[in-house]
Amino acid sequence: MSLHGKKALVTGSTSGIGLSVATALAEQGCDVMINGFGEAGAIKTLMQDLSSKNRVKVHYSPADLSTVAGVASLMSEAQAKLGGVDILVNNAGIQHTSPIEDFPPERWDAIIAINLSAVFHAVRLAVSGMKQSGWGRIINIASTHGLVASPFKSAYVAAKHGVLGLTKVTALELATSGVTCNAICPGWVRTPLVERQIEARAKERGLPLEQAAVELLAEKQPSQRFTQPSDIAALTVFLCTEAAANMTGTALPVDGAWTAQ
Ligand code: NAD
Repeated sequence: MSLHGKKALVTGSTSGIGLSVATALAEQGCDVMINGFGEAGAIKTLMQDLSSKNRVKVHYSPADLSTVAGVASLMSEAQAKLGGVDILVNNAGIQHTSPIEDFPPERWDAIIAINLSAVFHAVRLAVSGMKQSGWGRIINIASTHGLVASPFKSAYVAAKHGVLGLTKVTALELATSGVTCNAICPGWVRTPLVERQIEARAKERGLPLEQAAVELLAEKQPSQRFTQPSDIAALTVFLCTEAAANMTGTALPVDGAWTAQ
């Protein structure tokens, strides 16, 4: 199972799912580069923790992935500090909800840039190194919203459907290279990104927070429970093993039967 010595880059890993994925990969022996926003002291403590508990190297890049230059600087930092990228987890993402007619164009642009274009640019810049070494894993954290839609999430749904298309193309182009590319499609995972949606629902309907969370689940996720970030991390680790070497181009839902309906 061990991924000892592999070099992993996880975008958007200062919080939520990305943090769990970076932690799980460090636990498997990967040197890790984390990325994302947050308070400098908290990020330093996180790096020290990950590194000392797992005896791996941990680096941090503050690159803002909303621009092409930001993604390019992340990838060159990964090359310089990690010495390359064997495992790329494209996880950074943002959300905005609004009816289409009121959807702010700048929110559309930001969501497409971070949730979709950054994935393309990171993959674009990572594949030649992976092909050269004859081994690589690209894991895109998409969403059930890559498979089905919900109202008021035009940009997010468009971006996540795009990520699934990009995942398939990447897998086809790399099919004989030893590099796989897959997407994970979580349903509701209780992270800061979803907490904001629960808070908005509670405020809108005058409900206690936990009641709003129950309603949110009831509407979409038949299992009526949140997926844990560590569940997504465990699947990511599995996709990095040799058992998953012939799994590529897939979209794997972890959604309590949301998309079975
Ligand atoms: P989160 O808000 O907890 O974490 C998002 C991370 O992305 C943070 O580290 C943040 O700093 C980083 N980030 C945001 N903008 C960035 C930028 N411009 N440049 C670099 N980093 C940036 O969210 P999460 O719920 O953990 O979401 C992680 C991924 O999982 C996202 O792609 C999201 O769409 C996807 N996802 C989440 C859920 C869920 O229910 N939480 C469900 C399906 C898919």
